Amino acid sequence: MQAISGGRVLLPEIHQQLGIPADYPQTCGMPEHRECRSLVPVGNDILGRPALLDAETALAWHRMQMAAATDGLTLQLVSAYRSVDYQRQLIQRKLDRGLAIEAILQVNAAPGFSEHHSGRALDLGCPDYQYLEESFELSPAFAWLQQHAGEFGFRLSFPRNNPFGVLYEPWHWYFLGKEVPGAIA
Ligand SMILES: [Zn+2]
Repeated sequence: MQAISGGRVLLPEIHQQLGIPADYPQTCGMPEHRECRSLVPVGNDILGRPALLDAETALAWHRMQMAAATDGLTLQLVSAYRSVDYQRQLIQRKLDRGLAIEAILQVNAAPGFSEHHSGRALDLGCPDYQYLEESFELSPAFAWLQQHAGEFGFRLSFPRNNPFGVLYEPWHWYFLGKEVPGAIA
């Protein structure tokens, strides 16, 4: 793609191409996330695509997945690391389908601002529940995550009525790297 200079992706140009407001970095309330440089493979996601995570996050994810399995629950990886360019393409495809950028930004962070760039964010699912749907909150897997994800250093990024203007995402968990007492807080 063209908006790369000296290996550094130029976010303002990408945002302009997508029609993202120039003040988005100031108004979104979310920090910029650099692309992870310590990615390790963690098997395939639910669509069979090779998934990558930050090395430390990968260990915590495997531990959490095994602990859930011990409790009789299957946690599935729906989406893990995403590059800035992947995020750009994701948004571009939605624009091409006729969605408005304002509506898209309620469910997708602008390129450069997705926690998925850091390799520390996981979209999780479980059998018998629609992936990336709010109804995941009714699943036994979500109940388990609410209780235990904090023990593995994960917290829910976008609870209901979060201050970032992002819709409620019960499936999106972020690795803070230490035990989180109130993972849902
Ligand atoms: Zn996510």
